[in-house]
Amino acid sequence: MLRSIFLWLAGNKMVRGWMTSLGVARRAARRFVAGETIDEAINVIRELNAQGIVATLDHLGENVETIEDAQRATDDYVKVLDAIGVSGVQSHVSVKLTALGLDLGDDVCRANVARIVAKAKEVGAFVRVDMESTDYTDRTLAIYRSLRDEYGNVGVVIQAYLYRSEADITALCQEGGKVRLCKGAYKEPPLKAFPHKSDTDTSFVRLMKMLLSPTARARGARGAIATHDVKMIEATCQYAQQQMVPRDEFEFQMLHGIRRDLQQQLAADGYTVRIYVPYGTEWYPYFMRRLAERPANVWFILSNFFKK
Ligand SMILES: Cc1cc2nc3c(=O)[nH]c(=O)nc-3n(C[C@H](O)[C@H](O)[C@H](O)COP(=O)(O)OP(=O)(O)OC[C@H]3O[C@@H](n4cnc5c(N)ncnc54)[C@H](O)[C@@H]3O)c2cc1C
Repeated sequence: MLRSIFLWLAGNKMVRGWMTSLGVARRAARRFVAGETIDEAINVIRELNAQGIVATLDHLGENVETIEDAQRATDDYVKVLDAIGVSGVQSHVSVKLTALGLDLGDDVCRANVARIVAKAKEVGAFVRVDMESTDYTDRTLAIYRSLRDEYGNVGVVIQAYLYRSEADITALCQEGGKVRLCKGAYKEPPLKAFPHKSDTDTSFVRLMKMLLSPTARARGARGAIATHDVKMIEATCQYAQQQMVPRDEFEFQMLHGIRRDLQQQLAADGYTVRIYVPYGTEWYPYFMRRLAERPANVWFILSNFFKK
């Protein structure tokens, strides 16, 4: 129930305008967001790198409505990649296609992402295409595949809560795709996604095993297991051990500000851990999705509010 409310709020423009003007909300969002500027984000990544943890940088924003805004977001990513190159931090970038013009047409969006991917190649970085709601799944996969075939340094995300994901992972494993596996963060109808968490968890473990299987890896597939769920992490470590998956053939990914203890523990155990570091002023929908995942976070915000 609360999950649905927060996911509805994530898309509500009126509440968005009000919330983003509130200092207390901005401060609360800082739990999950590295800052508003590139410099703040690079500093966070530097601290992670010092602990043996790598990153993927996300310039916050989604569902832009004009070609100019999509262009601006693309320019920002090019600047981010320059900053990664100049600073020497160990980081990839993650992009949302609706921030780069997907609502304005596939060609507009593909051209913008191609600029980012080409720039990333120049500085030795990798571009992960985040997965948004099912309104965009097919088009996201098509743009990913076309850029992967042209440039190589691109990966995509698959959401374990979708019924279609097993078929998508089967195809991506055959193609040697680089896939981030997550549970899924959007509001989807029971017609498309498992309504019960236990079914999503079962699907997650099944898809993880497909991605890390010897046949998939032999074709070049690589899995990035993105979760804070200890059960999912343990299942992955166990399967990787059984199958003797080399440590450089998969990685764990987590979000900035969530389960830092687990991030550090896995890195200390010798696993590659990559943290998704979002930054920028467009934090509202990202923040709402984090609240939807764990409504208990609301108490954290309220306690901040009453401290003021
Ligand atoms: C690196 C990364 C990239 C992602 N990219 C995408 C994407 O492209 N598309 C997409 O749809 N989703 C994406 N997600 C979000 C994902 O789909 C889940 O919504 C999110 O990770 C929560 O699920 P969980 O696997 O952590 O498991 P859950 O069962 O939700 O949580 C397990 C435990 O993790 C902790 N936890 C989880 N979420 C929070 C939170 N918000 N605040 C505090 N503690 C929390 C709690 O201790 C909880 O008990 C991404 C997640 C990660 C880690």
